[in-house]
Amino acid sequence: MEKPVGRFAPTPSGRMHLGNVFAALIAWLSVRSRNGSLVLRMEDLDTQRTSAEFAQTLRDDLKWLGLTWDVETPPQSQRSVVYDRYFEKLMDLGLLYPCYCTRSQLHNVNAPHLSDGTYVYPGTCRELQTPPAGRLPAWRVKVPDRDYELTDMGRGYYRQNLLRECGDFVVRRADGVYVYQLAVTVDDGEAGVTEVVRGMDLLGSAPRQMYLQELLGFRHPAYGHVPMLMAPDGRRLSKRDKDLDLGYLRSHISAEHLIGTLAFASGLIEKPQDISAAELAAVFSWENLNREDVYLDAAALTV
Ligand code: GLU
Repeated sequence: MEKPVGRFAPTPSGRMHLGNVFAALIAWLSVRSRNGSLVLRMEDLDTQRTSAEFAQTLRDDLKWLGLTWDVETPPQSQRSVVYDRYFEKLMDLGLLYPCYCTRSQLHNVNAPHLSDGTYVYPGTCRELQTPPAGRLPAWRVKVPDRDYELTDMGRGYYRQNLLRECGDFVVRRADGVYVYQLAVTVDDGEAGVTEVVRGMDLLGSAPRQMYLQELLGFRHPAYGHVPMLMAPDGRRLSKRDKDLDLGYLRSHISAEHLIGTLAFASGLIEKPQDISAAELAAVFSWENLNREDVYLDAAALTV
């Protein structure tokens, strides 16, 4: 059987927090438990919020956790020439159109939205005859009225109708910056990634990426979306909880304690114990991983 190629695709906009650690751990375990390899890529399209210092700290934190990778591919901020080529390909297919909608116009649209906050785009600019003068457009790709289906390694069956549940989506912003959906599809495709493992909050993006993969000539990878971490009171653990970032955690507990806590809370091991990523790889199975949210008493981590 073909060896899996996985990836870490962190955004270097701050210190990793517990949720990032959990997703990175599962991505690593899924691939390493089957002798596969891992690609690291910095997703720094948002140059205002990201930095080379954060990227370096991320690498250092991954090493501390024992989550090794085989190659690092160039960061997204350096690849706009490559994305240009794929953008042209979409243009040649006749699937792109300019969109002049303002943010407030988009937000006033009374439409349901995906869990990631994306509004269903009603196609306002699809047939636009006279573009407004003096404004640069964003570029949207037309989507088909079609269900995209996948069997997610973490969640199980998932489907989304791209037209009705998402709508035509932006691939390049008005300021010329390519958006995540295009960049991630090109980068994973060019790196030969066979499985995409990341947080459950990105499950709703998978159909857009599957559609772009078809248009741009890449194979669909397998998907595994990792449950969200919740505090005992049902609140989602987030970046705002400063005591959950790795800067704090590294100075209080060992990597084995952190990994053991995540593994126990998510069903990967039966009793609480300190364990390294490498030891956990020997017993890892997607079958054992919780499908639903994972509850974690983070305060108990450092006592
Ligand atoms: N860069 C995204 C993040 O840090 C992950 C994107 C992905 O894994 O596809 O949340």
